[in-house]
Amino acid sequence: MGDLAARQHRAIGARRAEIRERLAGVQERLTEVRAARSDWTDEEHDPEGFALTFEWQQAEGVRAQYEAELRDLDDADARVESGTYGICEVCGEPIPAAQLELRPARTRCVSCT
Ligand SMILES: [Zn+2]
Repeated sequence: MGDLAARQHRAIGARRAEIRERLAGVQERLTEVRAARSDWTDEEHDPEGFALTFEWQQAEGVRAQYEAELRDLDDADARVESGTYGICEVCGEPIPAAQLELRPARTRCVSCT
């Protein structure tokens, strides 16, 4: 494996670790909200129950986002192997390093997003 590929795999791995950690935090929050919600049965007429439901939906949304990014990071690893990592899938130009640093799973440059 070349230096560049090794660096790319490392960046993808670091992001994966970060996302997994955040995902664990969201899971924990979901567990807490689920526990709190079981005390509030009359959600529709109870402001606190309603707030918990809202928080639940938000946390679920964040969780889905993180899970999608983890799948994208797997795809990114595969692109490193095939030598297409960091190439915009729309314009075919290299994606600037600073953009990849922020989001290693990125498949398009900012102009094409
Ligand atoms: Zn592009």
